[in-house]
Amino acid sequence: MTEKVNLCENLKSVEENIAAACQRAGRDRSEVTLIAVSKTKPVEMLQEVYEQGIREFGENKVQELCDKIEVLPEDIHWHMIGHLQTNKVKYIVGKTALIHSVDSLHLAEEIEKQAAKKNVTVSVLVEVNIAEEESKFGIHKEEAFALVKSIAALPHLRIQGLMTIAPFVENPEDNRMYFRQIHQLSVDIKEQNIDNVRMDILSMGMTGDYTVAIEEGATLVRVGTGIFGERNYNI
Ligand SMILES: *Cc1c(COP(=O)(O)O)cnc(C)c1O
Repeated sequence: MTEKVNLCENLKSVEENIAAACQRAGRDRSEVTLIAVSKTKPVEMLQEVYEQGIREFGENKVQELCDKIEVLPEDIHWHMIGHLQTNKVKYIVGKTALIHSVDSLHLAEEIEKQAAKKNVTVSVLVEVNIAEEESKFGIHKEEAFALVKSIAALPHLRIQGLMTIAPFVENPEDNRMYFRQIHQLSVDIKEQNIDNVRMDILSMGMTGDYTVAIEEGATLVRVGTGIFGERNYNI
């Protein structure tokens, strides 16, 4: 069963939604970047989206990310958005535009080690489990200051901001308070002017809630289903 997905049309409507949300929030469209979350999707679909002008792609598995990097155009910016195991760090360091999922000093130290070996600087986000869901990775917001400060001391890492995966909800309005909280957290951290730490990126919002996330300050939205259609994990 193959359902034909109209990538062009999907992209167009996501783009319209982003523009409308920016307008409602009094934000410039250029403040928000769309990441096409392409996990489980074949490279042909990524290529088609690429041809529509998209250059930011998000993947959540190291192997799949590396395989796709090999065969797709070099000017794609790759975002690692999934949980990252320390033993896999070596495969992606130097290949990603941004690692969204740093949630421990242990992981950050492994990135530091591999980045030093390759003499590269790695941009990362600290993942915050803002709703404190048991099932999710990410640190609790109370731990954010301490972790950010520890990571700031690692010379080959550059903290660019925060990331969160909000709860799965029927009504995206239910996540507004979480988006607001993590936005405030990023403002509070930024005010500390920690060396080697920027707080310019806020990665939040997925297919179900990206317009609300934009209204609450998202600078990166991660949209999968809304572009590529439903994922089938049984193939
Ligand atoms: C899969 C995934 C997304 C995209 O989810 P959709 O609901 O399909 O838009 C966004 N962020 C992360 C971290 C993901 O794993």
